[in-house]
Amino acid sequence: MIKEYVKNKKEELKNRVAALDRKPSLAIFQIGENEASNRYIKNKIKDCNEVGIEAHHYWYPEDISEEEFYEEIAATQDFYDGVIVQLPVPPHISTKNIVDVKKDVDGFNIMSKFDPATPKGIMDYLKWRNFDLIGKNVVIIGRSEIVGKPLARMMTDADATVTLCHSKSNLARHLYDADLIVCAVGKAKFLNCYAIHVPVIDVGINFDENGKMVGDCYNTEGRDVTPVPGGVGLLTRCALLENVILAKEWEEKENALD
Ligand code: NAD
Repeated sequence: MIKEYVKNKKEELKNRVAALDRKPSLAIFQIGENEASNRYIKNKIKDCNEVGIEAHHYWYPEDISEEEFYEEIAATQDFYDGVIVQLPVPPHISTKNIVDVKKDVDGFNIMSKFDPATPKGIMDYLKWRNFDLIGKNVVIIGRSEIVGKPLARMMTDADATVTLCHSKSNLARHLYDADLIVCAVGKAKFLNCYAIHVPVIDVGINFDENGKMVGDCYNTEGRDVTPVPGGVGLLTRCALLENVILAKEWEEKENALD
């Protein structure tokens, strides 16, 4: 089902790019060597090419200072519609306010007008598959700033009743009453889906003892659980593309009003 969503979404995004007066552009800033980051960036650039977004990759060594990195972004970001800093960055670099809020297409800055890509992708996918959130009990496991908390806000705004669980929650009690479960914990074999008969969105990315990518859920055969890989990662990638296109669409609208 997710593959079909992605195909439709990319088609929609391609058409929106074609209607703009120039191609939208994205700058990706990376520090150091991280195998997973390299792969994510490669995928992001491929996605951008596919829908007609110009993507540029800026790379810096691990020992760059926060000040230098900040200056590099400040000097470059005005030439792009959107900017992302690929995480993780070394511990001495804070990413909080490093990207201008106007350009932060990852939506990590709370002042950003863009929704963070993972929750946005999940919301858009649920809408596409006609999952009506109004009055539903949603249990989100994991209260991070980039997944659980923003998703709880977005689902509450969509009239769901949201329970945001964490490591101190009595999970069994909350799960009992759920109409939809989102699992964003980051632990393999965390959620046994054998007795779960409601849709589950598996956000987790983990690697098992053989180095195989797995989600947080197990015993998912015959259950309505998004796969890993090929699930939330793809939704997130689509949402990021949409944020870059939105940045350019909003700019054109503002220019038309001037
Ligand atoms: P995080 O580590 O910041 O947060 C994990 C959350 O899980 C915390 O709020 C913690 O309270 C909760 N938790 C830990 N143990 C728990 C327990 N026993 N019971 C209940 N809750 C518990 O993680 P994050 O950044 O939100 O990411 C979560 C997972 O999702 C990771 O595996 C990450 O790689 C993945 N992720 C995937 C995508 C994607 O695009 N597919 C995007 C973002 C994150």
